[in-house]
Amino acid sequence: MNKFESLGVNSLVLKAISELGFETPTPIQEKVLPELLNGHRDLVALAQTGTGKTAAFGLPLAQLVNFNSKETQALILCPTRELCMQITRDLKSYTKFLQGANIVAIYGGASIETQTREIRKGAQIIVATPGRMVDMIDRKRVQLGKVSYVVLDEADEMLNMGFQEDLTTILSQTPGEKSTWLFSATMPNEVSRIAKKYMENPFEITVGNKNQGAENIEHLYYVVHARDKYKALKRIADFNPEIFAIVFCRTKMETQEVADWLIRDGYNADALHGDLSQAQRDHVMKRYRSRALQMLVATDVAARGIDVDDVTHVINYNLPDEAENYTHRSGRTARAGKSGVSIAIINTKEIGKIRMIERIIGKKFSKATIPVGFDVCEKQLFHLVNKVHNIEVNEQEISKYLPKIYEELKDLSKEELIKRFISEEFNRFLSYYKNAPDLNAEGGGHQEHGGANRGNIQRLFISLGRLDGLFEEELRTYINEKAGLGQPGATMVDVKNSFSFFSVDQKEVEKVQAAFQNELYNDRPVKIELSSGGGGFRGGEGRFGKKFKYGGGGGGGYAGKKKFKSYGNKEEGGGNGGRNKYKSYGKQEEGGGGGGNGDRNKYKSFGQQDDSGGRKDRFKKERGFNKKRR
Ligand code: AMP
Repeated sequence: MNKFESLGVNSLVLKAISELGFETPTPIQEKVLPELLNGHRDLVALAQTGTGKTAAFGLPLAQLVNFNSKETQALILCPTRELCMQITRDLKSYTKFLQGANIVAIYGGASIETQTREIRKGAQIIVATPGRMVDMIDRKRVQLGKVSYVVLDEADEMLNMGFQEDLTTILSQTPGEKSTWLFSATMPNEVSRIAKKYMENPFEITVGNKNQGAENIEHLYYVVHARDKYKALKRIADFNPEIFAIVFCRTKMETQEVADWLIRDGYNADALHGDLSQAQRDHVMKRYRSRALQMLVATDVAARGIDVDDVTHVINYNLPDEAENYTHRSGRTARAGKSGVSIAIINTKEIGKIRMIERIIGKKFSKATIPVGFDVCEKQLFHLVNKVHNIEVNEQEISKYLPKIYEELKDLSKEELIKRFISEEFNRFLSYYKNAPDLNAEGGGHQEHGGANRGNIQRLFISLGRLDGLFEEELRTYINEKAGLGQPGATMVDVKNSFSFFSVDQKEVEKVQAAFQNELYNDRPVKIELSSGGGGFRGGEGRFGKKFKYGGGGGGGYAGKKKFKSYGNKEEGGGNGGRNKYKSYGKQEEGGGGGGNGDRNKYKSFGQQDDSGGRKDRFKKERGFNKKRR
């Protein structure tokens, strides 16, 4: 007998969860299901996301609610729209084989009329955020008089977000006789008070110890000087090539800023915070879920309810103001039995905060050292080797070129070939990282490799890119020749579609600026400007020419003017003229490739040209087949 079956789950629900791959109940499900399936018990569960709590209340609801009736029998309240949609999705999948089941999500930022229509069809289960629910009640769009089950999910967070009054209003509309199931990651007094007020002799359960983070999360902290935080973040990302992370910041502004820097530096990253419109947030989440983003930079509030499996790292770019929130943050990783790492990047004065969090979560942090450049190079090198080893070869497409390629390379031995192919990438890591400084505030990294002072490097912006038919080598040569630069000349050349970044020694900056003063490239004036973004070796170091698995990863952006504003809805097209050219169109991959109507359109960056419509053909032509492709 299946374990769920023995806990009382019926065959149609069982069939649905088998399709989801649920074979064994999680600990919370094992304890809660038998208690709730009889339908007459209140519950207080101290459990975080990732424990399987949604199914712990969702499966009983799927079984207890009468889907032959059209009346609303269950109401689930949760703090955020994201969580609301997630719970709705989950419940729909549990009830997939139950005829007549209609589960409706009610949340702010979407059309209240559409939601009303959905309810009028007969919603047996409503999943709602408190604010919109109160609105619905005020407008008399919902009937809660027949509700038999109320679930308060992430109760602590609902209270944190100031929904106390709304909860009281909503609960007062429900019958006195009902079952109430409360889930919370922490149990502050306010939550205990709610439990006492609304529940009778509840079944109490704690999954893991009180306020304790999940067992399989490793907690690390890195101590860096405050000014090096961003560099440390990038170093951590580079040292983990397969990273799939949520980076937590304290304010919306900081969130946007860090995301913009990352986008500029070539990472697949984006921001999630309350200043974005709902459509923008949905879009960011869609990209994150589909892994088009590797790093989601988020505020605590915006990230609540994010239910994405396989998050490898939670990074506290800044620790939360409330130490308790650390538990919420770290709970975004190590979900569903997986393991994960929760990292705090702190400055020397913040050790006390780490100790406080240790007391709250009842777990020790390990102090880690930011890897030095050499370590990152090595890690990236073997990642590359591994990728080559596992790469899927398109036999059909490549076979027609192979005879010519074999002929071209026939004088090279296998060893020589491997060396050269790997060097093609490795040289880039090396030139980027060989002189990278030790970022650990108290030292602790390894010996520096190389010796040039990176502080003397200046990052520059140039208004030429791939759309001008230029690629890394061509652009480097062009700059070096034009400005008469000796060795090493322009380094870390990072070519975007319509503009690029490169670095030169501080001493050469004036020379470069003078050389390009009146320069025309294909009749177009060439602009050189200092890139003054927050990241990098003073001038802002880009990523070392990473090739993106998922394409563009954002056009880049430009430090000088608008400070990397990220345009969450950039997929919707162009903007019009002015400084358009510098905007980062990170999301262009789903867009149409057209857009914009200023005469500066030609400078736009089309993050993922290959997937967008308008410019594809032209881009292909311009790239030329024998051109080196980055
Ligand atoms: P939750 O704590 O409800 O946010 O669930 C975390 C993740 O675990 C979700 O992706 C669920 O689909 C998954 N999950 C829940 N229960 C099980 C189970 N018994 N077996 C496998 N996965 C599960």
